[in-house]
Amino acid sequence: MTNLPIDPATRAVLDGGFPLLIGGQFVSGSAGQSATSFDPATGEKLADFDLGDASDIDAAVAAAKSAFGGPWRKLQLNERARLLRALARGIEANAQLLAELEVLDNGMPLMLAQMIVGNCAQLFDYYAGWAERIEGTTTEPPPHVQEQGEALTYTLKEPVGVVGLIVPWNVPLSMACLKLAPSLAAGCTVVLKPAEETPLSAVVLGRLIGEAGFPDGVVNIVNGRGEEAGTALVAHPDVAKISFTGSTAVGKSIARECAGSMKKVSLELGGKSPVVVFPDADLSKAVPGVAMATFFLQGQNCMAGTRIFAHRDIYEPLLEGMAAFAENMKLGHGLDPETMQGPLISKRQQERVMGFIADGKNSDARLVTGGTEWDGKGNFVSPTIFADVDPSMRIVREEIFGPVMAVQPFETDDLDEIAALANDSPYGLSGSVWTRDLSIAHRTVSRIRSGHVSVNCHGAVAANIPFGGYRESGWGREFGREGMELYLETKAVTLAL
Ligand code: NAP
Ligand code: MG
Repeated sequence: MTNLPIDPATRAVLDGGFPLLIGGQFVSGSAGQSATSFDPATGEKLADFDLGDASDIDAAVAAAKSAFGGPWRKLQLNERARLLRALARGIEANAQLLAELEVLDNGMPLMLAQMIVGNCAQLFDYYAGWAERIEGTTTEPPPHVQEQGEALTYTLKEPVGVVGLIVPWNVPLSMACLKLAPSLAAGCTVVLKPAEETPLSAVVLGRLIGEAGFPDGVVNIVNGRGEEAGTALVAHPDVAKISFTGSTAVGKSIARECAGSMKKVSLELGGKSPVVVFPDADLSKAVPGVAMATFFLQGQNCMAGTRIFAHRDIYEPLLEGMAAFAENMKLGHGLDPETMQGPLISKRQQERVMGFIADGKNSDARLVTGGTEWDGKGNFVSPTIFADVDPSMRIVREEIFGPVMAVQPFETDDLDEIAALANDSPYGLSGSVWTRDLSIAHRTVSRIRSGHVSVNCHGAVAANIPFGGYRESGWGREFGREGMELYLETKAVTLAL
């Protein structure tokens, strides 16, 4: 553990154990297995946590199924909304504890964790609003029914049932909340499987869910291994839908498995998002903005803008500015208030990212800054910029999920050519365009094949803004009204009166 000060409440939670939550009870895994979570900034042990296996998933799904048929189903919508709002208040009341746990488990800087915890509370407030607004429509009954006499046709919105939520480690609490808030607002019951690397904050969230007054079994939380607990959840016949965020490879395997039972599935997967900087861009904004498009969350961010296309006229000044920005980023423990960039999640991830950097160094690309081996403790990688890349290089094609930027110049003003460069990727999650010209901005946005594009900023996500991918970046949109539709079925009803 770090010597930096932590809240006594955080200390108490770390010492208190991290069990599974099944049917409203905190329990150990049935096989008595546990694992250890480490602080990625120091490599030191944080806490042991209980690991669930397939039989714990069975128990959690059974609890969720029984809760789906129980009092939860009969709650009026305003009561459901009241519970969601109570949970938002519980998150706010425990904000420092949750933020510190995120920092210790994931490595992100504290200020960012505090902002994220605030956003998590806001997600439950936001979806409480949608819970109160669930409504169907009326429409004209079919002619052959009307020929028999008076008739009525309407639609009902119904929760899909028991939902399996599987989340990654890069923004653990946020990933859990952005699936819990809309699924609960829709009236589903859930089994959440957090990522093995970051199991801690979800257990505290489970306690807050109980304190907010949700009936037992509505939310079940099973920490466990992806290949064991994750696969069991995906294969379970009583799970009606899987909502997954993670790698494209695992997403594809989940889609294949769900095809067997026609289970509903939504997927938020990888990205390699383009950033296009036009010659008229305001460099005082573009330099920090584009740098953070890559380096935000140490680059462990699905919407990271990592393929930069910069017009030749501003290419060198942009590179120079971003190199200075990167060199000024202080790496350190997330609890240190000076820290701008934390560690990567694991040694494995650090080695993987350094492998990409070695690849870049062996290519014809120019290393502008970073790229050095980290010789201290913790899984750090310095912000790294490669220039003069070409689209065939591995550092340009593959998602690195680390602080590595690949920049290339363009000279044309043909927007179709520029968009062809930007769209030359199997992914289509995010992207940004930097220009002061409204016409260029709109015409470029309309040519980029991504679910989420920003102008003169990057990664503008919020509870009300739909987010998700084209192509191999996934299926469906989270956040906003569309985020709730993922958890609702539409039933059309016709009555011959
Ligand atoms: P991952 O290996 O796909 O894991 C994500 C989650 O799935 C974890 O909880 C994992 O459990 C579980 N899992 C692994 N194999 C599984 C299987 N066969 N069946 C069911 N569940 C399984 O991804 P990661 O390496 O943790 O995260 C990094 C990746 O996530 C990156 O590629 C990134 O782009 C993507 N990501 C996308 C978004 C988005 O919104 N589009 C957001 C964040 C991250 P374990 O922890 O036990 O392995
Ligand atoms: Mg950890």
